[in-house]
Amino acid sequence: MSSDKHNGGCMCGAVRFIAHGAPKLVANCHCKDCRRASGAAFTTFVDFARDKVVFSQAPAAYQSSPGAERLYCKTCGSPIAYRGEGSPTEINMVLGAFDSPQQFTPTEDCHILSALWKTQQ
Ligand SMILES: [Zn+2]
Ligand SMILES: [Zn+2]
Repeated sequence: MSSDKHNGGCMCGAVRFIAHGAPKLVANCHCKDCRRASGAAFTTFVDFARDKVVFSQAPAAYQSSPGAERLYCKTCGSPIAYRGEGSPTEINMVLGAFDSPQQFTPTEDCHILSALWKTQQ
């Protein structure tokens, strides 16, 4: 993947961001928390170093479990990112927040035992 800028934001546009460089990982998470937080069957995350993502304004944060928070827009409610203290230098951006999400292809599936459907292996 190229080392350019990846723009994104929430549905209403109040929170915008630019992620710089290539993502460290693109993965689907099938855990129950991601299902609740997104409303979808699973969440696809695009992982960047935290210092590579610049926000136009700080998104709101919800502590979804000890040491983990989910960032969202307080105006429109769109999920934006996940931050966990297990990976203190990383931020996991949600795929759907990017203006061009088709540029990222997931290569891994996490929490597969919680998946609603069998994925192709
Ligand atoms: Zn918004
Ligand atoms: Zn998850």
